[in-house]
Amino acid sequence: MGISRRDALKAGVAAAALGAVNVSAKEKSSSEGYFCEEIATALPRKKKEHPRVVVVGGGWAGLSFAKELKINVPHADVILVEQRFEFMSCPMSNLWLVDKIELDYLIHDYLQAARENNYTYFQASATGIDKRRKLLKTSNGSIEYDYLVLAPGIDYDYDLWTHGDKELESRLRNEYPAAFMPGSEHMTLKKKIHNFKGGTFVLTVPRGNYRCLPAPYERACLIADYFKTNGIKGKVLLLDEHEGITIKDHGFSTAFNELYKDYIHYEPNSVIQRIDLEKKVIETEFDEWHFDDGALYPPVRAGRLIEILGLAKDTIYNRKEANINIFTYEAKGAENKNIFICGDARPMGFSKSGNTANTEGKNVAREVAARILGKKHEWESPVTVCISDVSYNPERGIFIHSEYEFNPKTNQFQFATPVTDEVWKGKEGLDNAKAVYGWAESMYADMFQGGFTKGFVPLASSEREKK
Ligand SMILES: Cc1cc2nc3c(=O)[nH]c(=O)nc-3n(C[C@H](O)[C@H](O)[C@H](O)COP(=O)(O)OP(=O)(O)OC[C@H]3O[C@@H](n4cnc5c(N)ncnc54)[C@H](O)[C@@H]3O)c2cc1C
Repeated sequence: MGISRRDALKAGVAAAALGAVNVSAKEKSSSEGYFCEEIATALPRKKKEHPRVVVVGGGWAGLSFAKELKINVPHADVILVEQRFEFMSCPMSNLWLVDKIELDYLIHDYLQAARENNYTYFQASATGIDKRRKLLKTSNGSIEYDYLVLAPGIDYDYDLWTHGDKELESRLRNEYPAAFMPGSEHMTLKKKIHNFKGGTFVLTVPRGNYRCLPAPYERACLIADYFKTNGIKGKVLLLDEHEGITIKDHGFSTAFNELYKDYIHYEPNSVIQRIDLEKKVIETEFDEWHFDDGALYPPVRAGRLIEILGLAKDTIYNRKEANINIFTYEAKGAENKNIFICGDARPMGFSKSGNTANTEGKNVAREVAARILGKKHEWESPVTVCISDVSYNPERGIFIHSEYEFNPKTNQFQFATPVTDEVWKGKEGLDNAKAVYGWAESMYADMFQGGFTKGFVPLASSEREKK
């Protein structure tokens, strides 16, 4: 029996469709990610005399990198690729949750940062690379580069809780967002706090090295303060997967005991085994906890882009973090020359914090600048500065400030110069809280305004008085 023209056409369409599926499956499984061959038309072509440095991720690391690179190599053509249309700060967001500051305080303008610092902001999602041709693939076309810097921050690693149950993961993401990545997650959490009628409000501290060590404890304090201030018969249940408070232990534990005895229940060693959202029960190794509402912060990993590009490895701290030389930040493997990764996606045990990412972004910029200019650059330590509030009514804070050093015996970095002030009582605590604003505003100025801005070093009350 002969084949009709209609059958032949149908077969052709089916084959083409199959081909398309195969091609896209191949593309998806390739470490080069999706192909978007077209060169981004909204950008000028790369010029030989202007080395092009493409930075992915307009967070604390990427913004700081872009500015510092332009300061060190003014003739470089720097392009910041960021998927968001505006910047929202995670630092200070706990204060917004309890109405202490306006949303405007957290929101900043990418175009201003780019204009005032002479680089280009390109709104797009990075999706892959063609390493041979030095092309970054994005949702808005491909970009040629000489140096590529990836600072995509974190993603959540729900699998350690859900063991592959994607339905549960999707419900956790939608119904109990962690609010450790800025945007809608924070909006949802704020509404939950403000609409809470009473009962148990659960928060979690994830295992491993997670984004902003003190933030879950600070958040517990501020939500407890909100319940206390507004006469809500609610209790914050803080389930910590660690053996104890991971940072500023004295400051937070005294606040829990002395300010929020009836409002916070802190439970360390609470490694989460199972979550039943129907019954609203969390099973840990030793207990079962009932909750009424809350925000569930799962373990973290490097932003998924790092894995998509074939640049991830498992570390002692977390799964799927950047596979880089820990001193130069360059991705490992000859084929990855001139690709650098910094910020919270890094594998080192540094505090995953904004100040760390800001100072590290600048250090990596000086490393890349040295390569462009044919010079040498010595490793510099990032600086962690973290001021947390233990109450907002009145506002009282505690802080830590430290650089890092490499310990060849453990093969790891450790705090080199920790200075802490964990006294939240009296004038000292009030002064520490005031310093939070000085810190945040100097950081926003540093990232979004042009010109030189000095990093921020908080001082203990006694040292402030000497000044
Ligand atoms: C509640 C809370 C409180 C905090 N408080 C403090 C504090 O007081 N002090 C402090 O120092 N730190 C604090 N932090 C931590 C701080 O926010 C992070 O450590 C910091 O944001 C890390 O910077 P980063 O540049 O690595 O990542 P991010 O700031 O997350 O930036 C990553 C950027 O990459 C973009 N991106 C990701 N993938 C792609 C892609 N494929 N294409 C294009 N763009 C992409 C993202 O949109 C994002 O803008 C806090 C965090 C939270 C959540």
